Amino acid sequence: MNRSRLASAILALSMLVVAQILAPAARAQSLLRDAETEQFFRDIGEPLMTAAGLDPRAVSIGLVGSPEINAFATLGQSVYFYTGLLVAADDVLEVQGVLAHELGHVAGGHAVRFNEGVAPATNITLLSLVLGAALLAAGAGDAGMAAMMAGQQAAQGKFLAFSREQESRTDQAGAQYLQKAGVDGQGMISFFKELQGQEYRLAIPQDNAYNRTHPLSGERVSALQHVLEQSPSWKKGADPALQARYQRIRAKLIGYVSEPKDTLKAYPLSDTSAPARVARAYAFHKLAEPEKAIAELDALLKVTPNDPYLLEMKGQVQLESGRVADAIPPLREAVARSNGNPLISGMLGHALVQSGEQSGSSASFEEAEKVLRASLARDHDNPFAWMQLETVYERRGDKPRLALATAERLTLTGGNPIAALNSAQVAVQGLEQGTPEWIRAQDIVQLSRNRQEDMAKERRR
Ligand SMILES: [Zn+2]
Repeated sequence: MNRSRLASAILALSMLVVAQILAPAARAQSLLRDAETEQFFRDIGEPLMTAAGLDPRAVSIGLVGSPEINAFATLGQSVYFYTGLLVAADDVLEVQGVLAHELGHVAGGHAVRFNEGVAPATNITLLSLVLGAALLAAGAGDAGMAAMMAGQQAAQGKFLAFSREQESRTDQAGAQYLQKAGVDGQGMISFFKELQGQEYRLAIPQDNAYNRTHPLSGERVSALQHVLEQSPSWKKGADPALQARYQRIRAKLIGYVSEPKDTLKAYPLSDTSAPARVARAYAFHKLAEPEKAIAELDALLKVTPNDPYLLEMKGQVQLESGRVADAIPPLREAVARSNGNPLISGMLGHALVQSGEQSGSSASFEEAEKVLRASLARDHDNPFAWMQLETVYERRGDKPRLALATAERLTLTGGNPIAALNSAQVAVQGLEQGTPEWIRAQDIVQLSRNRQEDMAKERRR
């Protein structure tokens, strides 16, 4: 793969940072990170978490890239939605309903059953992350594959469904949260009925994953409906603003995961709604027709010029089409309009690195470093941003910082801890003793040693 092909492979993944998570789910799954989706999750999550007596700052909601229709709760107070579920749901009330149910599992402490034997305190090291083709090309492939295999083996036999009794109790808890938060419970009922095959809107297979992990029964759904009907919010409908945001995110995901021809069939040109334009922007982008992609986004930006996520997508399309200079202004605007969202800042940093590579300008690299460090200070778990920072330090010949950034990325991407250990040791030797960076490098040395021991133990079992 030549350098520009590699660059475009990397770029193709820049909007949605693709990660592999081994645990807490205890098996390899790709974690998709997207600024717009994560903000949406926070906004629908907060009222329900508060209603559940949970601290919204302590509970996270993530997105797993998988066509399976599923959602689950894990140790460490996390809820994960599969892209398949977000696509299969047809309104925001269904997503809120499923979320309320999952938060019932979190509040009830049921998540442990999912992955018994996994220590809860190793969040970051257990986050194993593979940036698809980009990291494979960068030589992290073997480690990534090894981590994935280990994860799959560890998952075998450890996957347990919740008991029917636990499910019923969780339903009741979820119904309560919906009522307290003033959310209409119709979505919870319609989604469960749909999963059970009582409604065939989307021809969801009977053997869907959600049904396996959260056993459903007609009895359970009726009991739940009985409770939800008592709520003053029953049949009040969805919040129109949330509904609109959900429809756009759903379309964005469809555009991102689907073949362009399928996207263009689902969202024909005659459809000028925001979801349709966003979905088509990705379809055209994947077809290497950036002009058409940008035209779709510009049509929406004419109406809402300050929408950070549209600006982000526009910057992404420009960047991935090799027009770095055109990418930087919308990305700067997107960062400003999103209050410095770290994922979007990461992409701006990426564009600045590209600009530095093309022009050889050290000012671009300096600004890139600043932007990337600020991004990572707010959101450490972005291996893609670490990777960009590695380029900055490599160009500057700053070997200890390059080694530290590499160690950070390798720690997040999981796989072979020896490589992370080696990089961290180089950093420890080169960095000034006692500085925060030196302390961090020491921590990674220790973390990598612990992981190595855990993996050896796992092998002996
Ligand atoms: Zn459940």
